[in-house]
Amino acid sequence: MQTQVLIIGAGVTGTGLARDLALRGLSVVVVEKRDINAGASGGNHGLLHSGARYIASDPAAAAECHIENQRLKQLAPHCIENTGGLFVAVAGDDERYIADFPQMCRRCHIPVRQVDPKEAREMEPTLSDTLIAAYLVDDATVDPFKLSLDNMADARRHGAVLRRHCRVTGFQMAQSRIRRTTIIDEVTGRSETIDADVVVNAAGAWAGVVAGLAGATIEMRYSKGSLLVTQSRLCERVVNRLRMPTDGDILVPGGTVSILGTTSVRVDSPDVIYPEVHEVDTIIDQGAAMIPQLAVTRYIRAYCGVRPLLGADDPQTSEDDDDRAVSRGFALIDHARQPGAPSNLITISGGKLTTYRLMAEKTADLVCSRLGVTARCRTDVTALPDTVDARWTEPGLAPNVWLRQKAPDDMLLCECEMVSQSVVDEIVAGLQALDGRPDLKAIGLRSRIGKGPCQGTFCSQRLAAYLYDRGHLQGADGLVQLRLFLRERWRGQQPLLWDMNLAQAELLEAMHCGLFGLELEKSP
Ligand SMILES: Cc1cc2nc3c(=O)[nH]c(=O)nc-3n(C[C@H](O)[C@H](O)[C@H](O)COP(=O)(O)OP(=O)(O)OC[C@H]3O[C@@H](n4cnc5c(N)ncnc54)[C@H](O)[C@@H]3O)c2cc1C
Repeated sequence: MQTQVLIIGAGVTGTGLARDLALRGLSVVVVEKRDINAGASGGNHGLLHSGARYIASDPAAAAECHIENQRLKQLAPHCIENTGGLFVAVAGDDERYIADFPQMCRRCHIPVRQVDPKEAREMEPTLSDTLIAAYLVDDATVDPFKLSLDNMADARRHGAVLRRHCRVTGFQMAQSRIRRTTIIDEVTGRSETIDADVVVNAAGAWAGVVAGLAGATIEMRYSKGSLLVTQSRLCERVVNRLRMPTDGDILVPGGTVSILGTTSVRVDSPDVIYPEVHEVDTIIDQGAAMIPQLAVTRYIRAYCGVRPLLGADDPQTSEDDDDRAVSRGFALIDHARQPGAPSNLITISGGKLTTYRLMAEKTADLVCSRLGVTARCRTDVTALPDTVDARWTEPGLAPNVWLRQKAPDDMLLCECEMVSQSVVDEIVAGLQALDGRPDLKAIGLRSRIGKGPCQGTFCSQRLAAYLYDRGHLQGADGLVQLRLFLRERWRGQQPLLWDMNLAQAELLEAMHCGLFGLELEKSP
């Protein structure tokens, strides 16, 4: 396969870059070792930052966030819920930080309005009655899955190619350039090569590993952040603790649920990560100081992601420092400037979901300068289309459509999120058009299946049975996929095993192990 640009990684950065380059008329191939948003893009808070969180620690990133926040609200409104955000302080919080907050926001051109704590509690009745200060900012929420799926769908409409489950395993060099990239198809085991004029490493936390395959070096640290999902939505707005960023100080609405986070835990590798019990305890303790209900609510799932933090060689951010001190700005690395590294390799890493479009623009500018292409960026003025590929990630859409259509034979496969057979049919058709591989995890990623209170107990086996009926699964495929699907759900359930969750987990075990004997199936 031949292309002008090869992008490694289909997170929000890689998919956003694919769209930018495809809109400029370049030929693009994206390779992803798992599926869209397998990395941090599928493991974050979904907060479209106003920038106010970074005003003290990183004013440049704060200002950048605000500009992109405003732009994305105009260009991708279907991916965003314009909730607004509150920064709140409770008794005992740092009064100097509280007093300086509006001035620091204004310095970064971030609009801010003080509200009386009583007014804030009228807006958000779950807020603590120990509130001492509150400010309104432009925070919003963004559906990261919809964002990346829409970016990739639009990129494909403009000629880009996505290869899922294809891992980059090596590079062949000639005259200090990457001449050929070797990928292995994780499903078929076949390997093949791609010839590209420029290779962009958008592998997120794995950027250092990928660069290393080409003989380039990036100093990286990995900061894991864990998040908890509540069973129902507790606030209308994003609620931030008014203090220097630390653990458990943001509650973000995620459609019908709320997402509480996060932590910053140094890990050795981005590969084996899971939310830990001590993180859950910290997040709940801290969150409950601003919203007491967080101490007693039901959490249906925990998940985590890894922030790739660049700058491990910076003496200002030594090993002992809090990783939150490391810049949340992005790094665009032109390896042509590094001795011994390939001249046609570029790495884009770090940054925020909120600034993905800007990161893509800067990277695409560099790629184009390399290729002598003069086409300018269009993603700053061209709306992101609302595509069919990303339709069913939206909370509440599947039930609305199902109730409106009143089709009695369109059986519900997932009762928590009310996802019907016809929705699954549409997603399967999309996957078949992409690469012909409908599997449980891929369908879960593109819909709300498995995301409700039962966390896959009932819907996973119904979905598998339906796929068998339709001939999309054969032999033992379904059992293997069921195990993979449930294992992923279990990772998020196991640190939350108390009260209702414990009962739900025991039911799941009784059904899937006691009845189906799933634990006896071999792991893939
Ligand atoms: C806990 C947490 C909370 C966050 N909250 C927010 C937030 O609320 N708002 C915000 O704006 N930002 C937030 N962020 C930051 C945001 O999630 C990231 O900046 C963004 O998702 C990074 O996207 P990416 O595409 O660069 O990396 P990733 O999403 O990690 O994508 C990299 C991709 O590369 C693939 N890959 C790796 N190696 C290979 C290989 N060899 N071959 C092929 N593919 C490969 C991976 O599978 C992965 O899919 C948060 C991050 C974390 C961890």
